[in-house]
Amino acid sequence: MTNLLVNTRDQQFILFEQLGIEELFKSEKYADFSKEIVLMMRNEAEKLAVNVLLPAYADGDKEGCTFKDGKVYVPASFHHIFKRYVEGGWLCSNESPDVGGQGLPLVVRAACMESMFAANSPFLLYAGGMHGAARLIEEYGTDEQKNKYMYNMYAGKWGGTMCLTEPGAGTDVGALKTSAKRLPDGRFSVTGTKIFITSGDHDLCPNIIHPVLARIEGDPPGTAGISIFLVPKYRVKEDGTLGKFNDIRTGNVEHKMGIKGSATCTLNFGDEGDCIGELLGKERQGMRIMFQMMNSSRLEVGMQGLGHATAAYEHAVQYAKERIQSVPVWEIKNPGAKAVPIIQHPDIRRKLLWMKAHVEGIRALLYFTWFCIDMTAISRSENEREKWHGLVDLLTPVCKAYSSEKAQLVCSYAIDVYGGYGYCSDYPVEQYFRDCKIASIYEGTNGIQALDLVGRKLGQRKGADVMNIFSEINSSIVKLKRIEELKRHVAYLEEAYNALIDLTVHFAQLGKSAGFLMPVLNATPYLEIFGDVIIGHFLMQAACIADEKLNTIYKEKGVEESKGKKRALIREDPEVAFYQGKNAAAKFFAVDILSHVKSRCEAIKFGERVPIEMADESFTY
Ligand SMILES: Cc1cc2nc3c(=O)[nH]c(=O)nc-3n(C[C@H](O)[C@H](O)[C@H](O)COP(=O)(O)OP(=O)(O)OC[C@H]3O[C@@H](n4cnc5c(N)ncnc54)[C@H](O)[C@@H]3O)c2cc1C
Repeated sequence: MTNLLVNTRDQQFILFEQLGIEELFKSEKYADFSKEIVLMMRNEAEKLAVNVLLPAYADGDKEGCTFKDGKVYVPASFHHIFKRYVEGGWLCSNESPDVGGQGLPLVVRAACMESMFAANSPFLLYAGGMHGAARLIEEYGTDEQKNKYMYNMYAGKWGGTMCLTEPGAGTDVGALKTSAKRLPDGRFSVTGTKIFITSGDHDLCPNIIHPVLARIEGDPPGTAGISIFLVPKYRVKEDGTLGKFNDIRTGNVEHKMGIKGSATCTLNFGDEGDCIGELLGKERQGMRIMFQMMNSSRLEVGMQGLGHATAAYEHAVQYAKERIQSVPVWEIKNPGAKAVPIIQHPDIRRKLLWMKAHVEGIRALLYFTWFCIDMTAISRSENEREKWHGLVDLLTPVCKAYSSEKAQLVCSYAIDVYGGYGYCSDYPVEQYFRDCKIASIYEGTNGIQALDLVGRKLGQRKGADVMNIFSEINSSIVKLKRIEELKRHVAYLEEAYNALIDLTVHFAQLGKSAGFLMPVLNATPYLEIFGDVIIGHFLMQAACIADEKLNTIYKEKGVEESKGKKRALIREDPEVAFYQGKNAAAKFFAVDILSHVKSRCEAIKFGERVPIEMADESFTY
């Protein structure tokens, strides 16, 4: 199936040729899976994305959500696609069959979800909230809570959210004011206002279960005193049917720049003093519990970025091949020259290759991280499990922030490729750009992700996790250096890698001294550099595999000795075009991005303090 959302060949390449996910199928947990099954599932996902989700994408944007008489209504077309999504078993496809799932490895789910994110990310936020909240109950809930809430949520009957943010408590969740008062029967009366709650209210389901962060009266201030409660929109009776309205009133639905089909709500809990919540897990464990949901949501946000970026790139390539404009630069003095498709112009080619390299690199990074979670689940020893788990922890802020940040640039370049048409709503790229922006804000802004990486993740397990990823890159470099074709480009990867290590060590030393503000100040550029080096590594690794495959094909066709014949093969054999594209993306990334890493690291090490020292008054006059 061809589509303008995702490069399915590249998906397969990363899954099977680069990551070798068949390793998973050797385990008991994933023994029922095979390459054929994975490809079949991925195709089904693509069909749903293209035929069902995509047609509702522009609708959702135009119609948006409606707030009427205190109730929220989703775009009309979302009802039909929600039904199809649930019927297809996608809501909890990775969960165990015991709770209604299909037990899909997460990396396979990611490949399936990529086309869906590319097709309609605002819609997926309803499903994501449901799944995430149910997962939390599965992990921390009592049997009673599971029976009461979880199964209905996994079945797509009831919605779910995550309620952290308040007017005075955004990044600083510990400042929250929502309170929980103990009731004689062990439950709690919840009072407070949460804002910006995704899927906070909607008409897709008759009930919504809100995991809500609140402080039990008398508990200490800050994050240490926060607990988490399950607060249903309608209370649930003993027999499982819906009971009384639980005093959660929707105050507002936000009017936003993008993701207009996703309802972002202000929720007032207990205005009438009649909102009842049940403790989830133990008291004062709220942040720890919510972090489980947030971590997987952060990876999903990375997927959202990838979804927009891949769709924007695929559309831009198609447009560039069709739009005829201007004569080629080498014919500029020829009055008889004909205008050509804009893909012939070097500046457009450069943009497209920048987009391709980032999309494919981010895809590899995200799939790898999901694969690490799967490996955690099948690890045979505690050491091995810790290694995979540590990689996931370390890479989560990079997946979230790097992917969302670069995805915006990819979408922006896509608009540039379309020219003025890209800025108009006749084409989808402007919607991708608007919808993509939120990914750098929610689930912890990208600035906070960078602080998480530098302040916590680099040093976790005494630096063992970051050393693991570094040694992975180092092994690649050793292997890559043997390939003549890539030698000059690998030198840039090696230089960037050494500069990153040097900067990381520098940060570690500063962290122990009064100079700790420098890593804090430079956390965002550090994360970008870290991401660039990892992406560069994945792209180079891919180029190495591509090189081997190309050599085999050239040998089979007997064209090893002729450059011209090798080029000619591109038109005959799409595999040759694909592998040469992998090669080109890696080389371009090395020269265009990695070659600057050393100087960027040096600039950070220079230790300029002016952003900190400059007076507030000097920022504006
Ligand atoms: C469409 C949408 C959907 C959302 N969905 C949900 C949801 O479902 N559930 C939910 O609970 N929340 C949700 N949010 C809230 C979102 O997570 C917050 O907006 C985000 O965490 C930032 O909080 P804030 O808006 O209060 O910004 P602030 O905390 O006021 O931050 C403003 C700026 O200051 C920076 N900043 C703040 N503190 C620091 C610091 N210590 N160091 C460095 N920089 C700092 C931030 O990075 C940011 O750039 C959603 C928001 C939107 C817009």
